Amino acid sequence: MALLKVYTYPEEVLKKVAKPIKAVTEELRVLAANMLETMYAAPGIGLAAPQVGESIRLVVIDTRMKNDDGTVDTTGMTDLEVGIKQPLKLFNPVITKKEGKTEFDEGCLSVPGYVETVQRSNYVEIEALDEFGKPLTLKTDGLLAICIQHELDHLDGKLFIDRLSTVKRSLIKSKIKKYGYPEPDEDKQHNL
Ligand code: ZN
Repeated sequence: MALLKVYTYPEEVLKKVAKPIKAVTEELRVLAANMLETMYAAPGIGLAAPQVGESIRLVVIDTRMKNDDGTVDTTGMTDLEVGIKQPLKLFNPVITKKEGKTEFDEGCLSVPGYVETVQRSNYVEIEALDEFGKPLTLKTDGLLAICIQHELDHLDGKLFIDRLSTVKRSLIKSKIKKYGYPEPDEDKQHNL
C-alpha cells in the first residue's frame, strides 16, 4: 500500500477526458487500494483516478462517517445509502438516470481550501464494474449521490468550480493562479 500524490488545479491531467478501462487487472486493483488509502489519509470521501495522475475511468468512494470506536454513524444517511456497501471501487462508472435537484457545499482535494455550493441531482442510478470486473448497478440519493456525481465529473475533466457561475469560477481560478492555495480549514471541508 502506498500514498499517492494528489494533483491540483491547474494540472493538465485534471482537464482531460479519462479513458475507459479495458479489463480490471491486478495492477488496477492495487491502484484502487492505494487511492482509497490516499483518500482516507487526506481525509476525503471520494477520489478519482485523474486526481492521482491516472487518466482512466476509476473512482473510489466512502461517504460513511465513523464513530470513535470505528463503527459507522448512520445519522443523516438515507435508507438507500445505508443499504449500499462501502467503500466503493467503481470501474467505468456511468450515470444511467438522474432525478430531482439538491445542493451541497463541496470541496475537492484537487482544489484544496475552497468550498462552494454546487447544484446536483438528488437521485442517481449508475452502472459500473466492480474490482473483479463484474457489472454492478447502484441506486442512491443523499451525500453518496452527490459524491458519485462529483467523482464522475473528474473523469470528464470537470472540477466542481466548473459548475459555478462564470464570475465565481474566474475569480477562484485567477486567485489560485496568483496566490496558490490557502491552508485548508479541516473542520468545514468536505473533500470529494
Ligand atoms: Zn474532487
